[in-house]
Amino acid sequence: MPKVYFDNSATTRVDPKVVEAMLPFFDEKFGNASSLHSFGREAQEAMEEARRIVAKALNATSREIIFTSGGTESDNLAIQGIAFANKDRGNHIITSAIEHHAVLHTCRFLESQGFSVTYLPVSSEGIVSEEAVKEAMTRQTILVSVMAANNEIGTIQPIRAIGEIAHDYKALFHTDAVQAFLKMPIDVFKDSIDLLSISAHKIHGPKGVGALYVRNGTKIRPIMYGGGHERGLRSSTENVSGIVGLGKAVEIGRGNMIEDVERMKAMRERIIDGVLHRIPDSYLNGHRYKRLCNNANFRFDFVEGEALVLQLDMKGIATSTGSACSTKDLEPSHVLLACGIRPEQARGSLRVSLSRMNTFEEVNYFLDVIPDAVTTLRKISPIKSW
Ligand code: PLP
Repeated sequence: MPKVYFDNSATTRVDPKVVEAMLPFFDEKFGNASSLHSFGREAQEAMEEARRIVAKALNATSREIIFTSGGTESDNLAIQGIAFANKDRGNHIITSAIEHHAVLHTCRFLESQGFSVTYLPVSSEGIVSEEAVKEAMTRQTILVSVMAANNEIGTIQPIRAIGEIAHDYKALFHTDAVQAFLKMPIDVFKDSIDLLSISAHKIHGPKGVGALYVRNGTKIRPIMYGGGHERGLRSSTENVSGIVGLGKAVEIGRGNMIEDVERMKAMRERIIDGVLHRIPDSYLNGHRYKRLCNNANFRFDFVEGEALVLQLDMKGIATSTGSACSTKDLEPSHVLLACGIRPEQARGSLRVSLSRMNTFEEVNYFLDVIPDAVTTLRKISPIKSW
């Protein structure tokens, strides 16, 4: 039976070249990047090379890149770090209802600390409107945080316009680009971005390492205290092997980005057309075109998403439901609910997420298997109509 991995928004396979680049840093190049001796300098140089690569990919400078433990920490550092450092200027934050929990739960925490947060609604296709951002802005607004693209339904947000609005009102703009990075062009300068989160394990790098871009001159406070690494913003001995892995993953990803994106888009289109044509009462979640090249997210009437994931798993195909990739939560996805999808329909969702390592043969196999999987589940479903 073929083994097909279509859950690349949850995590990706580490590129063998990334593993190869990382290995020496567990072994002969094991130094602490803060040490003065040759072992330390070797680690430091490798880390700075990775910083240059990440900075270049975002049109930033090396000084503006802070290495972290991943997307969750980058989001926390951005939002808490800005909120606490700028509370003399205002206490209002704007975000969207469909952010990752790393953003939403950080905002909830800040509400408990006296900040006020506006959670912007989205259209039925999962898009934040520029008008809504404008209307929510107040003199107290210090930060707008809207993700570049959604992790469940893949919708791409108008970040450049949102960044410009934030700046018009003298607020800072943070974007969670964990899913969007290397899948669409992002330029922190042109896109008016002050802070941007990325994570290595979504781009064929290792887990537990990421970065936060912080525009030069931005007033920000750390969320952890210690030895003052990473310009005082992120204390702790640097994860040199992980950082080298992140740098290599970015280098490889950037090298073939245009071709990879086009191929993933073609596979995504085949999946979307194939599913919608072959399976009655199936719908696409999110926007038909303003979506990441690697994301297709469906809902199927009278089917439980989890049951479908298990049914496909029996055929060797790994997918996920519409709900968060990080938890075993059975609540319907907050993203789908925010799009106005009824809870019973939101429960019948399936996310298919691709990477450059997938093939058209795998897509064809998936399209052969999925109609029967849905039919089988519908036969045993106690619900036959809404
Ligand atoms: N933000 C988004 C949009 C994500 O998809 C994820 C991971 O699923 C995260 C943040 C968290 O990233 P990490 O797993 O590196 O903490």
